[in-house]
Amino acid sequence: MGAQDKAPRPSVRMCVRCEVTTGAPVVVAVVHQNSGPGFVVYACQACAAHYPPQSDVLTVLSPSGRAGGEG
Ligand SMILES: [Zn+2]
Repeated sequence: MGAQDKAPRPSVRMCVRCEVTTGAPVVVAVVHQNSGPGFVVYACQACAAHYPPQSDVLTVLSPSGRAGGEG
C-alpha cells in the first residue's frame, strides 16, 4: 500500500497593499465581475488591519435570543 501523505500546499498570496507574498493571506475584498468569476483580494496580516472588515462574507451570528427568556 502506498499511502502517500499529501502535504497541503501553502496558500501563498501576494498582499495587495505592500505587494509582499504572505503565507497567511487575509481576504480583504472580493471583486465581482459582470462576466466570469471574480477574484479575491488578499492582504497580509499587518495590512489587513487597515482594511475594513468584510460585511459581505458570511459571519457567524451569535444567538442573541436566549432560550427561556420569553415572557
Ligand atoms: Zn501587506
